[in-house]
Amino acid sequence: MIEKILVANRGEIALRVIRAAREMGIQSVAVHSTADANAMHVRMADESVCIGPPASTDSYLSIPAIIAACEVTGAQAIHPGYGFLSENANFVQIVEDHGLTFIGPTAEHIRIMGDKITAKDTMKALGVPCVPGSDGGVPDLETALKVGEEVGYPVIIKATAGGGGKGMKVANNADEMKSAFSTARAEGKSNFGNDEVYIEKYLGKPRHIEIQVFGDGKGNAVHLGERDCSLQRRHQKVFEEAPGPAISPEERAAIGKVCADAVARINYIGAGTIEFLYENGEFFFIEMNTRLQVEHPVTEAIFGVDLVREQIRVAEGLPMSFTQDDLSINGHAIEVRINAEKLPNFAPCPGKISAFHAPGGLGVRMDSALYDGYSIPPYYDSLIGKLIVHGRDRPEALARLNRALGELIVDGIDTTIPLFVALLQEQDILTGDYDIHWLERWLADYV
Ligand code: ADP
Repeated sequence: MIEKILVANRGEIALRVIRAAREMGIQSVAVHSTADANAMHVRMADESVCIGPPASTDSYLSIPAIIAACEVTGAQAIHPGYGFLSENANFVQIVEDHGLTFIGPTAEHIRIMGDKITAKDTMKALGVPCVPGSDGGVPDLETALKVGEEVGYPVIIKATAGGGGKGMKVANNADEMKSAFSTARAEGKSNFGNDEVYIEKYLGKPRHIEIQVFGDGKGNAVHLGERDCSLQRRHQKVFEEAPGPAISPEERAAIGKVCADAVARINYIGAGTIEFLYENGEFFFIEMNTRLQVEHPVTEAIFGVDLVREQIRVAEGLPMSFTQDDLSINGHAIEVRINAEKLPNFAPCPGKISAFHAPGGLGVRMDSALYDGYSIPPYYDSLIGKLIVHGRDRPEALARLNRALGELIVDGIDTTIPLFVALLQEQDILTGDYDIHWLERWLADYV
């Protein structure tokens, strides 16, 4: 059994893991850069180890420093959170080679899903519906133009190693293909060290619907419904909800079963998310994330489960604590991402927090590592908190979100809080009538 977990992350997700560990009677070890010496995850863990200077390449991404921290503290397992090393197959291999437990899927699963072309091929073979497009990688412009004709414009050129919205370019016609193709390749090369690209039909008005799956690594898997994450800026999610306002119980059961069966067949272990675009009643697979997602709390809220606890259980070789039949949806949940960013351009806005007050009350959850007097360092992601509300139905969740946003105080820096206050005035948001382009369109007029 795991007695001590090292959390290879920072911020709210490090707290999230430390909390689950503590409830399970497991000790926690925080790691931190010199810039994070006063961070909340360091204060809240049972032990902490400084693993390097501020730059994440020298600290949170330093595999030798993290392995050494396990050896020094006697931690037997590592939880990677999201981002940083969470989807690094090489890291997982090294962790296992040191006789430590990685709380997450195997290196092999991460490798397969980390390459989007291999992921698509794998999912297709497992019976998961995919976006129409090129058959694997597209080596040159000539082939790209041919695919463009076959698939029909507009198309999207995507880096197989891409992530975080980088390495994707839309081409509306053959003329645009030339620059879109070379830009996508160049972005893949510079951001991910891999210039292989593939091409997909560019869907006009889809919603981003993702299915939460969970496996025990022994051929059993369940799904925990969907999250609608269509409200995005630059392909980055800002507002997520579950269940999806456009998805019927029948659609959920059908696509959920396809996903659970697919991951069961590959003996997937732990939490995973299968992402789809959804248009005119059809689901099209785009990618799988082999980790806990930022937006996992909305699923936890409506199913009443602790996904991090489950991750730790299956990593220990225990069965999942629920079967598909045990899982049912209760109410509606919404998450908004509070970023240290200045509107309207979303410029990063690190700095000192002069006052912080988290909202509370029935159905409100605030996952944040902020505290009064904390200085947000400029080196990392701008996410400083997630506000999650849960209500008996969608209108109640929306009213609760409005109320909770009114209570939330983050003084001293600019944040995305006013964005959500404004969004709650919009009829389309109140009725759930939005697609992946809605927010960008709306932001164009928002000052
Ligand atoms: P990343 O790994 O960078 O997050 P994804 O493949 O998950 O990239 O796509 C991110 C977002 O980009 C999607 O949620 C959607 O908004 C948009 N997108 C991706 N593929 C398509 C497509 N074929 N048609 C239209 N939009 C797309």
